[in-house]
Amino acid sequence: MQTVWVLGAGQLGAMLQQAAYPLALRVVPLEPEATELPEIKDGDVVTVEREQWPVTPMTEFLSQQPSFMNAGIFGRIADRLYQKQMLDELEIATAPWREVQESSSAEQLHTELGEDVLLKRRTGGYDGKGQFWLYQDQGDEVPSDWLGHAIAEQKIPFEEELSLVGARDSSGKTVFYPLTLNLHSDGILMASVAPVNRVSHLQAQAEAMLSKIMDASNYVGVMAMECFRVGDQLMVNELAPRVHNSGHWTQAGACVNQFEMHLRAVSGLPIKAPEVRGQSVMINIIGIERDRHWLEIPCARTYWYGKEVRKGRKVGHINVNHPQKAAVQAALTELAAYLPEHYQTALDWVQKELR
Ligand code: ATP
Ligand code: MG
Ligand code: MG
Repeated sequence: MQTVWVLGAGQLGAMLQQAAYPLALRVVPLEPEATELPEIKDGDVVTVEREQWPVTPMTEFLSQQPSFMNAGIFGRIADRLYQKQMLDELEIATAPWREVQESSSAEQLHTELGEDVLLKRRTGGYDGKGQFWLYQDQGDEVPSDWLGHAIAEQKIPFEEELSLVGARDSSGKTVFYPLTLNLHSDGILMASVAPVNRVSHLQAQAEAMLSKIMDASNYVGVMAMECFRVGDQLMVNELAPRVHNSGHWTQAGACVNQFEMHLRAVSGLPIKAPEVRGQSVMINIIGIERDRHWLEIPCARTYWYGKEVRKGRKVGHINVNHPQKAAVQAALTELAAYLPEHYQTALDWVQKELR
């Protein structure tokens, strides 16, 4: 049986494993720290479910395999400096930015980028960790340990955040899911809605951007592109060369979900434009204990990752899907009773979108 070895063994690896069964593939997630190296056979492939990894015997071994897919791209995307350079080279709209050098000053960054500047650490940031706002009117200085390790971005007064999840196979064929509307709170994804008819006129623009990126890097597999919408213009916030949280709704709302699509692409099976079913909403479960009532909500399916609950940590998600928007709305109303108060803003936001 063909095996897809996955560097990383978090929830994304587990969901890739879950999607493998109908394809009769064996998917084996591997912890970077694991000491027993796998026996990789001809025809197997190695893929990745995380942004970065430490140098360990396991990660060294995996990244040296000839079947390590997309080897060239991870380093470029995991470092925001190189990722931004790549977007500029491809002439893809993105927030204006500067490298934060050892010699950079807040004054100079404000002159070049404006009053409010967002510092982002070059590597290692996720869920809004690794960000620092520099406000001119508060006289903020660049923290000394950020000098030489960050980029600075102009604050984008975006109307909303959208993402596009797509896939490319080794022949260069590309397929895409509909644009997904995302709500972030404190830099962390709270909820996604798809499809969203009122943004369908931006689909072609988004697909052209992500196609350009995937083609230029000869990428194979699923890639996600996070965007800001400013009027009818999309700007890339960041790229994720892997399955992505904003594509989790496809487990309920598409005939081939993003996990299966990724496996198909990397293992050389056909990919196809995914038929989308009904209305989907995904709610992230962040830093709260599991509630068994979630399992009783109609039209909903809970994914619980089995991780230790910590503040701000993604520990599960709930997909709600139904052909009728009204049924999704009713399910979310029921769900609201079993989520803490601070979820109300996100749930209201979703309800407003479905109206
Ligand atoms: P992820 O968990 O998606 O990997 P991250 O920590 O890598 O997140 P970003 O996606 O770069 O961080 O930023 C997180 C959020 O911060 C964005 O979704 C957006 O809400 C906000 N943000 C990022 N860049 C800007 C910007 N230039 N202007 C305004 N808001 C921004
Ligand atoms: Mg990120
Ligand atoms: Mg992001």
